[in-house]
Amino acid sequence: MTPTPKQDHVLIFDTTLRDGEQSPGATMSHEEKLEIAAMLDEMGVDVIEAGFPIASEGDFNAVSEIAKNAKTSVICGLSRANATDIDRAWEAIKHAPRARIHTFIGTSPLHRAIPNLTMDEMAERIHETVTHARNLTDDVQWSPMDSTRTEHDYLCRVVEIAIKAGASTINIPDTVGYTAPRESADLIRMLIEKVPGVDEFIFATHCHNDLGMATANSLAAVEAGARQIECTINGLGERAGNTALEEVVMALKVRNDIMPYQTRIDTSKIMGLSRRVATVSGFAVQYNKAIVGKNAFLHESGIHQDGVLKNVETFEIMKPADIGLNEDNIVLGKHSGRAALKSKLGALGFELGQNQLNDIFVRFKDLADRKKEVYDDDLLALVRVAEDTTPDRLELKSLKVICGTDGQSAEMTVTVDGTEKSATTTGDGPVDASFNAVKEVFPHAAKLELYQVHAVTQGTDAQATVSVRLNEDGRIVTGSSADTDTVVASVRAYIHAINRLLVRRDKVGSGADEREINYKDVG
Ligand code: MN
Repeated sequence: MTPTPKQDHVLIFDTTLRDGEQSPGATMSHEEKLEIAAMLDEMGVDVIEAGFPIASEGDFNAVSEIAKNAKTSVICGLSRANATDIDRAWEAIKHAPRARIHTFIGTSPLHRAIPNLTMDEMAERIHETVTHARNLTDDVQWSPMDSTRTEHDYLCRVVEIAIKAGASTINIPDTVGYTAPRESADLIRMLIEKVPGVDEFIFATHCHNDLGMATANSLAAVEAGARQIECTINGLGERAGNTALEEVVMALKVRNDIMPYQTRIDTSKIMGLSRRVATVSGFAVQYNKAIVGKNAFLHESGIHQDGVLKNVETFEIMKPADIGLNEDNIVLGKHSGRAALKSKLGALGFELGQNQLNDIFVRFKDLADRKKEVYDDDLLALVRVAEDTTPDRLELKSLKVICGTDGQSAEMTVTVDGTEKSATTTGDGPVDASFNAVKEVFPHAAKLELYQVHAVTQGTDAQATVSVRLNEDGRIVTGSSADTDTVVASVRAYIHAINRLLVRRDKVGSGADEREINYKDVG
């Protein structure tokens, strides 16, 4: 059944794993998708759009596994407007305690031209496909893609057809991020006024951030009567991204006085999800990003610090703890023991088994020897490395880099499936020289698509986290690592990416996992 929100309740529909994962380079592994889905479920997301099952075997398997593990969230699978797609989506989601088919077709003049359908032909197709989906489940969501550029009369007509065919959620996507708050509200108001039977179904809003208005447009739609917001963690998504879940949820919470709507979201889970999605997608969060940016709760200027010390409400409209940001961001050092580490990790939300704890403790001691203070973010970086289960077919044994004004070279030993291999190479800078050494000991054709370095905390002894994205014939993998030595972190991240690539090669042989259809964004 469609969850029916009360008048003041807004459903949160998360599409991090579909629209977010679809953005170029944000590809997540099977295990990562399961983990993110479990976190979203736990957080209280009403509907999780888990993927696009017809797109590939990999998508199908991930959606199907997420459906089987679902607890309270509805699991939704996306499909285009044909029976094969819809059947495949249903196959993937049908084991979920609550499953939803989401089917869509582009209804604006530009999008109608793609399948070359007349208005009447498209109306007929909508009737057929929604009916088909409705025969499989009673929870069907339908989207007229590019709603905001569809003629109003036609939009009303097709929405009515979809409802009569049994859709219980009508999503109104601003596919290209073109609308503005007042127009977004007017469109929902117009539909509510003109489409009959409005108590029988829910309007959803799905906005993109091309003009920086996704959050404002979503909230405007809610004020006009939409009762489902489609969004992603960190605003991940194609181009400038989707509406950010953390922004709409916190806006409704902080300004509940003027926007009196509730969600089921446990906001204290926001930071954990934000960090996890940033890591697995390789899309770091900008420092001044609303809610989850590193600086969102920093008060640097003297006047602000003074004010906040006297009364936090002087400059803070929400508390760091509201989003699960641990204020006690201090600090373990080289004398901290296993119990302190365990308690700190517990406070950060990690319940670790003895083996994992031991593994992290060894890494922690090693780090604390090199770095005076170990912050929460340092620990999170260690946990990420310890949690990764990718087999280390390539392993870095030693690395010596010479850099400076006289040129750069790297001397490296790596084991490949247990066999030691060494290389000495030059390059344009120490990182380039080191990556050339990896290519020499393990020749491969994958293209380096992204190389990103971030300091985990402040100071020149800070750990660097490095993300590396490789693309081998459309197989895209992200590797990451952290170390106080930036070049070592870079090489480890590169090797991590190769190890993950090897898993992908093994799993799918000749690339059967790759998406075969070049699908257009929905909304
Ligand atoms: Mn979209």
